[in-house]
Amino acid sequence: MKEIRKTVCNRDCPDACGIVATVEDGRVTRIRGDKEHPITRGFLCYRTSLFLSTQYSPDRLTTPLLRRNGDFHPISWEEALDVAAQRLTTIRQESGPAAIFHYRSGGSLGLLKHLSDYFFEKFGPVTIKRGDICSGAGDAAQEMDFGEEDSHDVFDLLNSKNILLWGKNVFTSSPHLVPILQEARARGAQLVLIDPVYHKTATLCATHLQPRPGSDFALAMAVARILFEQGWSDPAARNYCDHLDDFRDLAESHSVAQWCREADVLPGSAQTGRPLSWWVGGWAGGSMVRE
Ligand code: SF4
Repeated sequence: MKEIRKTVCNRDCPDACGIVATVEDGRVTRIRGDKEHPITRGFLCYRTSLFLSTQYSPDRLTTPLLRRNGDFHPISWEEALDVAAQRLTTIRQESGPAAIFHYRSGGSLGLLKHLSDYFFEKFGPVTIKRGDICSGAGDAAQEMDFGEEDSHDVFDLLNSKNILLWGKNVFTSSPHLVPILQEARARGAQLVLIDPVYHKTATLCATHLQPRPGSDFALAMAVARILFEQGWSDPAARNYCDHLDDFRDLAESHSVAQWCREADVLPGSAQTGRPLSWWVGGWAGGSMVRE
């Protein structure tokens, strides 16, 4: 019997794609992107397009494994649940629930992951972690360096006049961003790519700056200096930035030309088509400096 079922991608990916699966006699034979899903728009990324070879790989684990005498043995799900329940109950009785450490990280994005939190809250409360070795570590660093790190809704890009892609090949790392960027460009947005490597994303962009590998710090400093000099930084930045004066001193320790030389980028119009300050004006939302 053949049927079509709608499901969702199970990977830890913010696109949270909708999938349309063809199921024949209980076996998935084809997966496609859901055309009705606003991000997926009918296509899946390369790795999920190939997911069925993983799903039905003979190497894939399909049952729980229990270690006995140093070796793993396949067991049924009922037996695995009994073993887990018995061990958890024993530890709670002997040592109290705080002796159980519940470690959960991101995993699949969605609400289901919160079920395990709910379970251990009811069962314990047990010991939980503070912080995270996964994205939480990056979140903590970003908050410390830049403050709140919420992103815009991706469709907000359609309201942008200037979009800067710094070290990002959207065709491989964010394929569902491509149609949104194309639409933004059709609405008049200027796209700029900064990447030492030429790749397909450059074809979407009005200009491509290619700093020497490892030197984009210098390019960032050139950008910062232009922002300060042109008065395009937020006048209230002092209220929410630590060490703003030190940062400005650092940016102004070299001229824009010196920073650009370090980054191997021409500040003038030869490489960028426009002076660097023209583009920075757009990114800052200020008026672009005309040639
Ligand atoms: S982009 Fe790929 S990995 Fe991410 S949700 Fe969509 S299909 Fe899954």
